Amino acid sequence: MITIDRSRLHTAFEAERQRFIETHPRSRDLFEKAKGSLLGGVPMNWMMRWAGDFPIFVTEGKGARFTDADGIEYLDLCLGDTGAMTGHAPDASIEAIVDRVQRGVTFMLPTEDAIWVGEELARRFGLPAWQLAMTATDANRFAIRLARQITGRRKILVFNWCYHGTVDETFATLTPEGSVREREGNIGAPVDLSLTTKVVEWNDLAALEAALAHRDVACVLAEPVMTNIGIVHPQPGFHDALRVISRKTGTLLIIDETHTICTGPGGYTKAYSLHPDILTLGKPVGSGIPGAAYGFSAELSEQVREISSSETADVGGIGGTLAGNALTLAAMRATLEDVLTQAAYDHTIPLAERFTEGVGGVIDELRLPWHVTRLGCRAEYWFCENAPRNGGEAAAAIDVELDRYMHLAALNRGILMTPFHNMALISPQTTEADIDRHTDVFRESVGALVG
Ligand code: PMP
Repeated sequence: MITIDRSRLHTAFEAERQRFIETHPRSRDLFEKAKGSLLGGVPMNWMMRWAGDFPIFVTEGKGARFTDADGIEYLDLCLGDTGAMTGHAPDASIEAIVDRVQRGVTFMLPTEDAIWVGEELARRFGLPAWQLAMTATDANRFAIRLARQITGRRKILVFNWCYHGTVDETFATLTPEGSVREREGNIGAPVDLSLTTKVVEWNDLAALEAALAHRDVACVLAEPVMTNIGIVHPQPGFHDALRVISRKTGTLLIIDETHTICTGPGGYTKAYSLHPDILTLGKPVGSGIPGAAYGFSAELSEQVREISSSETADVGGIGGTLAGNALTLAAMRATLEDVLTQAAYDHTIPLAERFTEGVGGVIDELRLPWHVTRLGCRAEYWFCENAPRNGGEAAAAIDVELDRYMHLAALNRGILMTPFHNMALISPQTTEADIDRHTDVFRESVGALVG
């Protein structure tokens, strides 16, 4: 295995930095102007976290591509960090969205589309009763509240290095000694997170069993495959054991399918016959129009119905003025009916396999101590030789400098990768030629470091 020469990496990064500045004068001007009214020159703080000195400003996107203010076209493998997994501006969704906008967006009353969406979610995921939220974060927050109310328990359990949105209780991590502390960078935690949260490593069934044995945990909140610290798969038997242990200890199981919807039309839950008590999802489900959903098992739905229909439900901490609005539902219906279909996955999953083969081939050829993993139409390379078994192992392999270089080199060659990850997501409009182009760019970028 070769090691990356750091001074060569710094030189290569500096060259990419200069190239980026020279080729993006318009984005640079817009960024300077934006600083006059927007904190950090961006409307949302994460948008500062791209590899160049400033973010590129987008003008428009269609399918797998978008164009920036300098007129440069990109192959988009970030896809709004899954929000645009449908591809940008899918025709079927545009038609439904435009039609709905012209007939009123939000009423705080149901439209008939809600029934279609509820029935389709039930069919896809196998849970019979559904509610809507605006974001996946909200869906997770509501699911946690309900789990607490139903079980009468205060704590939740998450896996080390998880991400489930801006949900206070989930920003907890394990110290090297095995105790719980808030994750670095967490802003304004309401209380010490060890009061609200237990954390165990992914795939550590003994730790899970020990943590739930006290019967003080309302729910386990988990992605079925970790996707926010690279892709970390469950080991064989993990999900069966998780379900047995959670049931045995009276702990509810919330499965967050927001990213793992990349597995197939019914997410990982349907593909691997999981049986969560609550399932949450968001991001791409309305083709990028904000919307999220959370569904309940038959056993739970009756209890949830009683809680939700109380006289004081409007101040119960569940729901929101815009949740379940007519526009979201029209967008979700079109997305589920015509965009995120089985046929779409039949196209995108083989392309993600092609991505994995391409990148994996270069890793082998250049003897890089890296590896590449895939889940459905999502693939990601990570800077360690073997697939990590848990979040802690994956986090130990984070390499900020290398990450920044790989992102910027790809961007300068017309490919957008997801920031904070080395993740590629495939849209229904992505082609084999696009994937091969990425493989070439990957080889060229790494080649500049090791050749
Ligand atoms: N769940 C998971 C698994 C996620 O990855 C994310 C966002 N990356 C969320 C929930 C939250 O989504 P949003 O920011 O749209 O609320």
